[in-house]
Amino acid sequence: MSLSTPIVTDTLVSYPDGALVSSGTVLHVEPLPDGRAAVVLDRTAFHPVDPVWPDQPADQGTLTVAGVSHPVLDAVVGATDGTSLFVGDAPVRTGTDGWVFVVCHLVADATGIEPGSAAEIAVEPDGRRALSAGHTACHLASLALNESLAALWTKEVPRDGRGNPNFDQLAIEESRILPNGSLDTYRIGKSLRKKGFAAAELPGVLDEVTATANALLAGWVASSAPVAIARTGEGLGERRTWRCELPDAVVEFPCGGTHLTSLGELSGARVSLELETVDGALELRMRTTAS
Ligand SMILES: [Zn+2]
Repeated sequence: MSLSTPIVTDTLVSYPDGALVSSGTVLHVEPLPDGRAAVVLDRTAFHPVDPVWPDQPADQGTLTVAGVSHPVLDAVVGATDGTSLFVGDAPVRTGTDGWVFVVCHLVADATGIEPGSAAEIAVEPDGRRALSAGHTACHLASLALNESLAALWTKEVPRDGRGNPNFDQLAIEESRILPNGSLDTYRIGKSLRKKGFAAAELPGVLDEVTATANALLAGWVASSAPVAIARTGEGLGERRTWRCELPDAVVEFPCGGTHLTSLGELSGARVSLELETVDGALELRMRTTAS
């Protein structure tokens, strides 16, 4: 739908810093074809799902306007080129120049929610904590997997922050953050074999790879290493980087999600691996559990 008043700046987001509540102003209310409405605020603590890389699901919580508390049914990244608002179906990646990116809070009934109204956001804390733990463990597990698979590479490929061949980056097909865990799917097809990954050897060493990854994870959790999100600005479209000071290296990678502030908040993290042949290609699934 076209915008009567253009939205000219990204939503300012505080969830990367761990915020659970925020106060803001309603900028726009977009009626959706399914009867729900998308509410855009100037600032929010609510983490939205990014349809381009939907790894971490949206927070759960409420949007309160004029004393009425509305459950937020979902939250998605929206984008506007100044004339129209795309709610979860933007034709560009989040952060693309020339576009403005906003958090769309989806409510069942927007009666009484008007542009200019003050709005309070409250995120359900237990759900957020479980997703933050799952996301932090997911990143650690990918680093542990890279090291555990390092011996299977026969050619030089890009390396991760700890100096291991970056299997995770080269093979990842889908990543899903779950409460206190994650499920990552890797595709080991022709192109990965051409890059030098000895896929035929993987089934025979899967148990050993799993044990190595779990030993690394245990050591990292015991180190209580600090975790932080660094960012270039508060806008939703700004680049954000996950950073963890592991005992042997500071590791960083791009990340739009939420995290713990220290590995000391975990008591453990473990992975299990399983291989399957899908459409002629090998798929490796890594299930990570954080406790
Ligand atoms: Zn991430």
